[in-house]
Amino acid sequence: MALLSVVLPSYNEEGNIENTADVLSGLLKEADINYELVFVDDGSTDNTYPLILKKAEEDPHIKGISFSRNFGKEASIFAGLQAATGDAVVVMDCDLQHPAELLPKMYKLWRDGYEVVEGVKSSRGKEGFFHKICAGVFYKIMSRLIRMDMKATSDYKLLDRKVVNVLLSLPEKNTFFRALSFWVGFKTVKIEYDVQERKYGQTKWSFVSLMRYAINNATSFSTLPLQMVTFMGIVAVLLSIGLGIQTIVKYLLGTAEAGFPTVILLILLVGGFIMISLGIIGHYLARIYEEVKGRPKYIVRTHTENIEGKL
Ligand code: UDP
Ligand code: MG
Repeated sequence: MALLSVVLPSYNEEGNIENTADVLSGLLKEADINYELVFVDDGSTDNTYPLILKKAEEDPHIKGISFSRNFGKEASIFAGLQAATGDAVVVMDCDLQHPAELLPKMYKLWRDGYEVVEGVKSSRGKEGFFHKICAGVFYKIMSRLIRMDMKATSDYKLLDRKVVNVLLSLPEKNTFFRALSFWVGFKTVKIEYDVQERKYGQTKWSFVSLMRYAINNATSFSTLPLQMVTFMGIVAVLLSIGLGIQTIVKYLLGTAEAGFPTVILLILLVGGFIMISLGIIGHYLARIYEEVKGRPKYIVRTHTENIEGKL
């Protein structure tokens, strides 16, 4: 019988673990699906891992991995994919904001032959005003850069074993799961859902972490910002040609002035362009540096005994 793995990244989710494990177990048993739950404790500072351990001791369907520190959701997802042994793997948030009721539907679509079942948000659920605006801007920019509509995408997906293996074989360290699963292709179907309210605790995203996430993902998926540097250079050259002609004409007409404002403006403009360009190049350099170092995505501190294979 086919095995479905559910990967659940968890960071300081002590209030959610037990409930989520119970809800998912109940639901999957009822749907008569052979399953395993893989909780990935992303270096939580609360009781998340002890609770996972307790659950795992009670129920062999439950597995757990614990990181040595917080490595971020992407790392948790990939550790979960690595540890999952299922023929299909679902990634979902462990705060149950991704409705669990969808699992049997996703499973069925997979059985029907789809290799990727993408959860698509039909509404974004309750969010702060500021968070909504930031997320909006982020998705706008991302959609442009990656050339696919990111607004409704989420990390809630089911992947066939083939797709999981492809994702695991990618050498890059800085990943963007939700775009990668699109990038690899395969037979995909979308399934809509409403984002639920968080059962316990609060969102882990701050403004700064969202910004960092946005910039890193944008640059890991597109080199357009680098090409923008060239574009800005061209604009600066055109401007200076215009100003140059004006200066020469004025000189020939004998109306040349001291011209300080022009000089100051030019210095500011060109200086600004150069700084921005250097910043962008520097950012990519940093990304290359990170990749070249080849450090692992995450470090496992411990895991439950039922984890097979290498992490
Ligand atoms: N998460 C994680 N590592 C992190 C931050 C978040 O594994 O560094 C997990 C978190 O436990 C949750 C999921 O990622 O299961 C989504 O996080 P959250 O609910 O805070 O984000 P939101 O739903 O507000 O986008
Ligand atoms: Mg959430």
